[in-house]
Amino acid sequence: MAYTYDPQNIFARILRGEIPNKTVAETAHTLVFHDINPHAPVHVLAIPKGPYVNFDHFAAEASVEEIVDFHRTVASVIADLGLAGEAGYRAITNAGMSGMQEVPHYHLHILGGRVLGRLVGPA
Ligand code: 5GP
Repeated sequence: MAYTYDPQNIFARILRGEIPNKTVAETAHTLVFHDINPHAPVHVLAIPKGPYVNFDHFAAEASVEEIVDFHRTVASVIADLGLAGEAGYRAITNAGMSGMQEVPHYHLHILGGRVLGRLVGPA
């Protein structure tokens, strides 16, 4: 599969410091920040710093170091935000047309702080 990355997408611009963000955590390979339009009391987005358009691109082409860093950082944020264990959370990623992905830079939504309802609602 050949992936085309648009370097002008909004998260690429956030990574370049062209657009501000409310950072929750940052490492060499990963940035976690608050979603501008939260759908739950906690709604953060975790993105790799590398140019990956979606989950399958990241999983196929990122280095082991990037993949481990991303997931360990997300786990640490989940703990820091009080979502680990009983409280719980939902981690979602949207891809392409069916997933209605808006921003073509891989991101994982982490939502929590209330009961989130069923996984899939009406389109
Ligand atoms: P998608 O539909 O691509 O899975 O989700 C994109 C998410 O990015 C949406 O939840 C939207 O609110 C968020 N978003 C879009 N533009 C910005 C922005 O400039 N800053 C932040 N923090 N979030 C954004």
